[in-house]
Amino acid sequence: GEGLPRPTATRVIVVANQKGGVGKTTTTVNLAAALALHGLRVLVVDLDPQGNASTALGIDHHAEVPSIYDVLVEGKPLADVVQPVVDVEGLFCVPATIDLAGAEIELVSLVARESRLQRAIAAYEQPLDYILIDCPPSLGLLTVNALVAGQEVLIPIQCEYYALEGLGQLLRNVELVRAHLNPTLHVSTILLTMYDARTRLAAQVAEEVRTHFQQEVLQTAIPRSVRVSEAPSYGQTVLTYDPGSTGALSYLEAARELALRAVGLGQPGSAGQGAV
Ligand code: ADP
Ligand code: MG
Repeated sequence: GEGLPRPTATRVIVVANQKGGVGKTTTTVNLAAALALHGLRVLVVDLDPQGNASTALGIDHHAEVPSIYDVLVEGKPLADVVQPVVDVEGLFCVPATIDLAGAEIELVSLVARESRLQRAIAAYEQPLDYILIDCPPSLGLLTVNALVAGQEVLIPIQCEYYALEGLGQLLRNVELVRAHLNPTLHVSTILLTMYDARTRLAAQVAEEVRTHFQQEVLQTAIPRSVRVSEAPSYGQTVLTYDPGSTGALSYLEAARELALRAVGLGQPGSAGQGAV
């Protein structure tokens, strides 16, 4: 693919929204693949016990596979659990196994329980341009670990009724983590997903989101597309499954926008505060 600028330091992007089914996992794996196909080195951290991102990247994640659980709970180095993604050069994945379901509870009694992922990433020495963290649909300790480890939050928003419901809660959590644990954290990016250009509702939701978050919303919206939803069952991203599809092209375009965004956009203080 066409080259994109390499960030001067690794950009750690937390893909979060406590609602399920809004396109977090789909966005994480496809944006990551798009960035890698553009020539960048990208790591996906699967932080959802469901392991959907691992599945979508064709990564084995049965119970015995070394995983993010071992990193968070056992203190294993990230380097010991990273796997290369077959088919996409420069793309890597830290899988999640079902063990992770217990981690929300197990983490509670551990030292530095909120910053275990941040420490693991800081100790990882392989050069990376991007780390994308796929969060579970909750605001528990796993998501808090992601927010402490990242600099940027990317919120996928499904163009449906109640799209903005619950967003205030997520923004308040980002605020709390920024205030107490991670001053660099900010909502840098909002991506409209499952956009159906034929419906008036989708257009209205998109309009509303763009009004609330003028700075953060990417111009590119991801269309609803069967190819996007089929790809994971083949252990592939839509970029390799059907490279010419509208879904693949829109994720490539979204990745380009993300990579080219001016540094400084959405810095602390501007990220849609009080908007919802
Ligand atoms: P989350 O991780 O937020 O729970 P997913 O990424 O798993 O959401 O997406 C939820 C469902 O919607 C999945 O079945 C996925 O395949 C489907 N989906 C996501 N994006 C699209 C799209 N652009 N077009 C069609 N289906 C999509
Ligand atoms: Mg998911």
